[in-house]
Formats: sequence, C-alpha cells, structure tokens
Amino acid sequence: FLPMAAIFSILLMILTANWLQRRISWRDEIRRAINGRQFTVHYQPVYNDQLQRCSGAEALMRWTLPNGTVIRPDIFISAAEAEGMIVPLTRHLIELIAEDVQDWEVEPGFHLAINVAAEHLQHPEFVSDMLQFVEKVKHQQFVITLELTERSLIKDGDAVARKLDALREVGIKVAIDDFGTGHCSLSYLMTFSLDYLKIDRGFINAIESLGGETPVLDAIINLSFKLRLQVLGEGVETPLQLLYLQQRGVVFIQGYYYAQPMSNSALKIWLKEKGP
Ligand code: C2E
Ligand code: CA
Ligand code: CA
Ligand code: CA
Repeated sequence: FLPMAAIFSILLMILTANWLQRRISWRDEIRRAINGRQFTVHYQPVYNDQLQRCSGAEALMRWTLPNGTVIRPDIFISAAEAEGMIVPLTRHLIELIAEDVQDWEVEPGFHLAINVAAEHLQHPEFVSDMLQFVEKVKHQQFVITLELTERSLIKDGDAVARKLDALREVGIKVAIDDFGTGHCSLSYLMTFSLDYLKIDRGFINAIESLGGETPVLDAIINLSFKLRLQVLGEGVETPLQLLYLQQRGVVFIQGYYYAQPMSNSALKIWLKEKGP
C-alpha cells in the first residue's frame, strides 16, 4: 500500500512525460503533415453588397489526417504558434495558394486575404515572405490583404509599422481581424496605416439577441468611417443581420448567409455560377 505522496508523484511523472511527448509531437506532426500534403486551403467568398457581387475570398487552412480526422484550425494554428512552426506553416500555405489560384477565373483586383500570425510579423523574413507570395500569384493581379489581429500589433510596434508600410508600398492591404476582441488599447489605430477593419462575428451575432440595441457595434462602424477604413462584417448568417449592416453602410459582407468556406474545386465552380 503506497503512501499518498508516492502515488501523487508517480501520477505527476506520467502526466509530465505525456505533456513532453505531446509538445514534441505537435511540432513533428505539423512537419510531417506539411511533407505529407495533409494541409489544404479552403476559401470563403467575400461579398461587396453595394456592387452585389463577390469581391474576394479569404484563405482558411484545413488539416485532414490520413484517417480522415479533421483538426480545427484554431487548434493547430495556436499549436503551430506555440511550437515555433507558424512560419513554416504559413510558407507552406503560400505555396498551396499559389498552386490553387493558377486557373481561377477572376477579374484583376479580386481581393485575396490571408491570415498572418503575430509571430510571423516579428520574423526577420516576414517582408520577403510576403513579397514572394505577391510574386508567385502576380499574374492574377489580386489585391492581397493581410489579416492581422490586434494582439499581433502590440509587440515592436514601430518595427512592425515599418514592415507593413513597406508592403503597402507594393499594393498589399492590411486588415484588422476580429476587431474589438483583442483587449488592447485603440492607440495602435494611430500607429499603423490600415485599410480594412473586420468586425468580429460576436458583435454580428448579438444583433438578434440584443433586439436592435447594439451600441458597441454601432460605435465600431462609426469609428471605422471616421478613420476612413473599409469595414467588413464577419459571420453574417441571417437576413436580419445583413439588413442591419446594410442600413449602417457596411459594404463588405462575409458569412454563411452568402457562402461557407469551400475547397478550391468547389470555389472554382461557385465563382462560375455566382461570381463576378
Ligand atoms: P478567422 O480568421 O476569424 O476566420 C473566420 C472564421 O469564421 C473561419 O473559421 C470561418 O469558417 C468562420 N465563419 C465564416 N463565416 C461564418 C458564419 O457565418 N458563421 C460562423 N459560425 N462561422 C463563420 P475557421 O476556418 O474554423 O478558422 C478559425 C480561425 O483559425 C480563423 O479565424 C483564423 O484565426 C485561424 N486560421 C484559419 N486559417 C488560418 C491560416 O491559414 N493562418 C492563420 N494564421 N490562421 C488561420
Ligand atoms: Ca481572418
Ligand atoms: Ca475574423
Ligand atoms: Ca477568429
């Protein structure tokens, strides 16, 4: 009969070993998944409500294991960030997108948005990675938009601002993703030159439950107009949510109401049927 303390320390050892193994294997698994081509990219159309047409798409990564299990991006993206794998993963994403877009039938100026993680912004090769992306897809004459979260702008503000300015020089646009959820001061709105503000789904969701009383959402929309930013509503699912945003002048709409994220082949069909 083992004393409690011994049982406890054995348990702790098992847990630690497990945790260590988990740590090592995330990194290895992501690397293996890149080589094994387990990652794919889905694209979600973005709608310009004023022009009544699709104006672009956001690239969203997907990971499917050989046994068919799908790992959610919020899980593997944060794992990749924590394990120092987000830069290789984003470089892989860029290659996948470059392959996918070869035969897209879109007009020049079609917006292509990619998500950039905070850690990548700090990386010394961030600007050259993005320039390489521009180069790879340049025959399509996309307007490329980088989606950044508020959190990613907190660290090294000046250095990051210079990098973003350099990219804006070559026509890249910068969007703030999940606006209003970052728990940080709004001073960055003055530090950085931005183009788009994406209103987080949470605020759009609240339109119905709050019965038309959405002071924070209204303030965000007004703020973006004051700052001369283009504003996009995310996660729009219902006609009521759409109407609410239309009435307040929000032009760009993304959400299941118009289209879900879809595979490359599905997108190409979608663009033919419903695209510009
Ligand atoms: P996000 O950048 O905010 O992407 C929007 C998420 O909302 C997507 O989830 C999309 O499928 C979902 N969505 C779009 N419209 C609707 C709607 O009408 N209703 C609801 N309920 N959901 C909607 P997804 O694809 O699961 O991605 C989750 C998050 O993972 C993304 O949030 C982004 O932060 C991250 N992520 C995905 N792909 C990448 C990537 O390639 N790189 C990086 N750094 N992050 C990525
Ligand atoms: Ca995004
Ligand atoms: Ca978002
Ligand atoms: Ca999000």
